[in-house]
Amino acid sequence: MGKFVCKICKGDNVQIRAWINANTHEYQDDSILDDTDTWCEDCEDHKGLEIEKTIKPKKESEFDKKNFN
Ligand SMILES: [Zn+2]
Repeated sequence: MGKFVCKICKGDNVQIRAWINANTHEYQDDSILDDTDTWCEDCEDHKGLEIEKTIKPKKESEFDKKNFN
């Protein structure tokens, strides 16, 4: 799975607003709400997030491990 990055600068220094149980402090909801519920530390603005498109294939590292054994 990709990680969330800023729509504008594509940086990963981003935050979302989330609901926490007032008593247990447990994280309650991971649904992305609105662009206004996101925050980019680099842009210092609520510009919205997107899933990073480029996901590195893991095949190469797995292949290297097998060769070492
Ligand atoms: Zn940004």
